[in-house]
Order: sequence, then C-alpha cells, then structure tokens
Amino acid sequence: MLKGKTALVTGSTSGIGLGIAQALAAQGANIVLNGFGDVDAAKAQVAAAGNAHGISVDYHGADMSKPAEIEAMMAFAAERLGRVDILVNNAGIQHVATVQEFPVEKWDAILAINLSSAFHTTRLALPSMQKANWGRIINVASVHGLVASAQKSAYVAAKHGIVGFTKVTALENATTGVTCNSICPGWVLTPLVQKQVDAKAQAQGISTEDATKQLLGEKEPSMQFTTPEELGALAVFFCSDAASNVRGVAWNMDGGWAAQ
Ligand code: NAD
Repeated sequence: MLKGKTALVTGSTSGIGLGIAQALAAQGANIVLNGFGDVDAAKAQVAAAGNAHGISVDYHGADMSKPAEIEAMMAFAAERLGRVDILVNNAGIQHVATVQEFPVEKWDAILAINLSSAFHTTRLALPSMQKANWGRIINVASVHGLVASAQKSAYVAAKHGIVGFTKVTALENATTGVTCNSICPGWVLTPLVQKQVDAKAQAQGISTEDATKQLLGEKEPSMQFTTPEELGALAVFFCSDAASNVRGVAWNMDGGWAAQ
C-alpha cells in the first residue's frame, strides 16, 4: 500500500515510534528512523518488517530539542529519498512533579521535544507534500492531549498543544491531499511508562505486578495496555486512501480512559 513512499518517524528507536515504523515498513514504505539508544537493533527490526518489499531504512540522530538538528534531519531525508511523504511526530519524554517543584529545564525540554519539534518537522515537510498533493502527518499525542493528570503539567500542556497544532495543520491543508491527525494512546508499556511503574513500586514498597495493576486501575477501564502494534495499525489506516478525508482528529486508543 505504501510502496515508493518515504516515512520519517521521530523517536523511533524504541516503543511506539518503533512499532509505527515497523507497521509502515510492512506496507512497503522506506523509513527514516530517529532517536537515541540501540539504533542497530531498531534498524534491523524495521528492515525485517519491510523485507518482502525491499525497503530502505535510514537513520538520522537529530536531537528533537534542537531546531538546527531537526533542519539537518529533514534535509538529509529529502536528499536521500526525494521527500518525506509520511511524517510521524512521535519523540517524547516525561517528567513527573508538582507545578511548584517542576524543574524549569525539564519544562523547557518537554515543550521542545514533545511540541515544538513537531512544528519544525511539519513546517519543513509541508512544502514538498503540498507540491506532490499527497502527504500524511501523524502526531503521537496522548490521552493527556485531551484530559489531565496531576504532576504532569509540562506533558499535558505539550500534548494539548500538539492536538491544537494538528487541527491548524489539518485546516490549512483541508482542500489538498495532505492530512494531519493525532493519535491519543492511553497507557502503553514502553520504557517511558516502565519508569513510572518502577517509581510507583519503589515509592509504595509493592511488587512491579501490583504497581502495574494499580497504574491501569487508576485510569484505564479496559485494564489492558495499548500496544505499539495496535498504534502502528492506526497509523497505517491514517495513511490509507480510506482515511483521505479524516482531518484534524485526535483519535483515542486508550481502553476507555477519556470516556469516563
Ligand atoms: P520511549 O521512551 O519508548 O520512546 C521515546 C523515543 O523518543 C525513543 O526512541 C527516544 O530515543 C526518543 N527520544 C527521546 N528524546 C529525544 C530527543 N531529544 N530527540 C530525538 N529522539 C528522542 O517512549 P514511548 O512510550 O514509545 O513514547 C513515544 C511517544 O508516545 C511520546 O510522544 C509519548 O509521549 C507518547 N505516548 C506514550 C504513552 C505510553 O503510555 N507509553 C502514552 C501516550 C503517549
């Protein structure tokens, strides 16, 4: 379905971004990966997913908190593969503290990585998408783009911001073949959430299993984690022809979290 298209997924060396990159690769898209950590393992997993289509897998290590590095990444993708057809803004970090105790540098980093990076990638990807009259921009927001939780001020502010940014991008391109939508997952058991489970277990002196149950029980009525594979399938749908008039939505995959 996506053969000949190029997808750039930020923060795709782990978790949700890696799952989305694999799902797009399995549809035949060439992939540009980004993020920190074990790059070779991520490259191998994505290449394996796209093996049947003979896709290419490239990597750029831009730090999403640095606009100049984002510009270099977008130029790299254009040079290597012509243009970015599918842009997935996924890189994100978390920090948990009350507003009065929130470290200023953490606030700035979360706003830069979880929100402003999407502005930079989008502004740089749009001209060639508009010229081609085809493009898909998918912003990995969160259920925290729709509702709040205590101690997550920067994250909730950034995620509400990206849901708004998604709508504006969708509207400005509404008469074209370029769509922009956001995905709002509930809990997904990735390293980002494992840290929160571990902190809960340690703070309360309980097992990881009990901390996991408590975490789900507080927010997610299904008592199930959403998986990177499920989110990958939703991203593939957004890239399909059937989704060509889905514009500016914030699509929950949250086990009923925001329905409460
Ligand atoms: P993760 O920690 O597994 O992956 C984050 C990815 O972002 C990694 O590839 C990491 O290297 C990369 N990254 C971090 N800082 C970066 C930077 N400065 N520049 C470039 N890359 C950077 O986390 P995840 O849970 O897969 O989260 C991915 C996205 O999904 C985030 O935007 C997160 O807010 C969102 N999300 C996660 C959950 C969840 O429950 N895990 C729920 C809702 C939304």
